[in-house]
Amino acid sequence: DLKSKQKPRVPDKDKDRVITPRSQDFNAWYLDVIANAELADYGPVRGTMVIRPYGYAIWEAIQEYLNVKFKETGHSNMYFPQFIPYSFIEKEASHVEGFSPELALVTIGGGKELEEKLVVRPTSETIVNHMFTQWIHSYRDLPLMINQWANVTRWEMRTKPFIRTLEFLWQEGHTAHTTLEEAEKEALQMIDVYTKFAYEQAAIPVIAGRKSRVETFAGANRTYTIEAMMGDRKALQAGTSHNLGQNFSRAFGTQFTDENGQRQHVWQTSWAISTRFVGAIIMTHGDDTGLILPPKLAPIQVVIVPIWKKVDERTGVLNATSSVKETLQVTGIKVKIDDSEQRTPGWKFNFWEMKGVPLRIEIGPRDVSSRTVVISRRDIPGKQGKVFGISMDSSTLAAYVKDLLDEIQSSLLGRATSFRDSNIVDVSSYDELKEAIAQGKWARGPWSASDKDELQIKEETGATIRCFPFEQPEGTKSCLMTGNPAEEVAIFAKSY
Ligand code: AMP
Repeated sequence: DLKSKQKPRVPDKDKDRVITPRSQDFNAWYLDVIANAELADYGPVRGTMVIRPYGYAIWEAIQEYLNVKFKETGHSNMYFPQFIPYSFIEKEASHVEGFSPELALVTIGGGKELEEKLVVRPTSETIVNHMFTQWIHSYRDLPLMINQWANVTRWEMRTKPFIRTLEFLWQEGHTAHTTLEEAEKEALQMIDVYTKFAYEQAAIPVIAGRKSRVETFAGANRTYTIEAMMGDRKALQAGTSHNLGQNFSRAFGTQFTDENGQRQHVWQTSWAISTRFVGAIIMTHGDDTGLILPPKLAPIQVVIVPIWKKVDERTGVLNATSSVKETLQVTGIKVKIDDSEQRTPGWKFNFWEMKGVPLRIEIGPRDVSSRTVVISRRDIPGKQGKVFGISMDSSTLAAYVKDLLDEIQSSLLGRATSFRDSNIVDVSSYDELKEAIAQGKWARGPWSASDKDELQIKEETGATIRCFPFEQPEGTKSCLMTGNPAEEVAIFAKSY
């Protein structure tokens, strides 16, 4: 009978749902959140990952937004094969040097040794250029601007779910232009698309800038990056855009005839964001209770939990629950009702908090009679995050919930921004840099020293130049390392 169904079959203290406190062990916390929130699981091969439906839904939200932006900025989606002849990789000298240690190779196919081994794509610049040589003839064929959503494989030594896996999902944009200026403009445009995405959708206040020579992509003239500060204050490279110059077009002979009938090599870019970004969201916003998802990327924005004790309350509560769901859904809000009768309301509260759902609506018998609901914010724990007596009246409720989601979105960005800013230290000497890094902070200081000096800092402190931020203070300063004039400040940090 219904009455016995109300009793939870599973005790509230579910032993396998224990999350290590974030402050105690950030890495253990991160892995616990991924397991408990059912975002991903380990694959049978070291360093591989199975992305579970809830984790994949976050990736899909990322894709949905970016895919539209890529098309708005003139790119078309297409698809290249995953197998690349080994000889292609060898054509661009610094590319092969950079990628060799990470390549997965296929040497046998159909039981026979292959004449030429194949590379499982780590990135597609080589095969893209091979095809571009066949599609690009004159300046009329340019610019050529494409993107693909694909998997790539890099044989990474140290791996971590989402952040660094052997196989990952990403999008890779590839473009070809008639001039260096146009390619540069494109590379900057795309890092700007990523920056806006990070701020406006993921509520992650990334710092956009240029990589140092040491950290530039293998085969690029310039790499632009967005760098995010994780909850443990380590930096994460969350997206990159490369100005490839003519490096690949010279290696592959990707040429066009210009307006004067002269043959020229095309100028190129490539840019990518990967499933790493899901890891960035987890590590930026999460807390001891689990995940906190920015409303704009949350697969479920509102979970509704019906609460009833007596059988005669059930119908009224469930009806109200469905009508509230309907009210919100028609305005485009992503809603889920958790009306399972195997779990108590308390258990459900904990579960959906752990899954990072931005808002919870509780509806009980008293709410049904007063035609109101109770709403709880995930980002503000306890009583302070609760609002009582919000009218069920459709227009009032939908508008209220929308506002609240917007408020959570901007509050998460605000919180992450103050955290970031309170953990960046301006330094003017190597000693100050060392001290900041030792405290786990980011150091920002004038830099015009050599690649060798940069590597020495990495050796001695574990920190690397994350970027020369686009936003620069005025005037020339003196390099923190050498004392020589420095045009730019760089940001140093330990990173993932
Ligand atoms: P890259 O081609 O090296 O510039 O990397 C492009 C994007 O993929 C960057 O946003 C990286 O953060 C990301 N990425 C690089 N390696 C991995 C990996 N092993 N797992 C997940 N994401 C990665």
